[in-house]
Amino acid sequence: MSEPEEVPAPEQLAPFNIEKARSSRSKCKVCKRAIEKDTPRIGVLLEGPYGTGYMWHHVVCLAKRDLAKVEEAYAGDYTQPGVEKPPIEELRAEAAKAQQKKAEKQEAPFVERASTGRSKCAHCKEPIAEGAFRFGLLQSVEFYGQVRNAVIKVHADCVANALNEANAATEIDSFHDEVRANSKLTKDEVEAALKETGVERG
Ligand SMILES: [Zn+2]
Ligand SMILES: [Zn+2]
Repeated sequence: MSEPEEVPAPEQLAPFNIEKARSSRSKCKVCKRAIEKDTPRIGVLLEGPYGTGYMWHHVVCLAKRDLAKVEEAYAGDYTQPGVEKPPIEELRAEAAKAQQKKAEKQEAPFVERASTGRSKCAHCKEPIAEGAFRFGLLQSVEFYGQVRNAVIKVHADCVANALNEANAATEIDSFHDEVRANSKLTKDEVEAALKETGVERG
């Protein structure tokens, strides 16, 4: 978590603050990258256990994450003089695009058909043939002490073994139902793919 910068006494703080970054030291809470000096940034007042301060964001990053907050900040008198902030229409368009992308992203587990022969199976490391069923499964990955789920792609006949690995994060019990719900192939194809895995219903 990036430290809120030094700020005036809490009673003087507005809920939002749109200003030019005074240094390149603040980090955007959304993308975790530095906010370059002099670029517009939006601060959201946070009253935490360690005091009150602004959490800083790139304006467009916050718009994609939480457009309502940006709308509110733009509607009020929270912009410091001389800040050239992106127009709200552009931010709305960016937010809509981000929503769309999220909607198109496929939840795992799922099955799809390999669109090329270039992908490799994460389980057996062999290529997955073009047009073959390719399953996306969740696997927990540790990165510098932080555990998160990543999607791995495997052959249909590697699914059973992959699901039994220690770091598998897809439950065997709900595997069939989740694949049916998440996959964009036809019903018949999904059933054929599930059959190919040989995984028994839990
Ligand atoms: Zn950002
Ligand atoms: Zn394989």
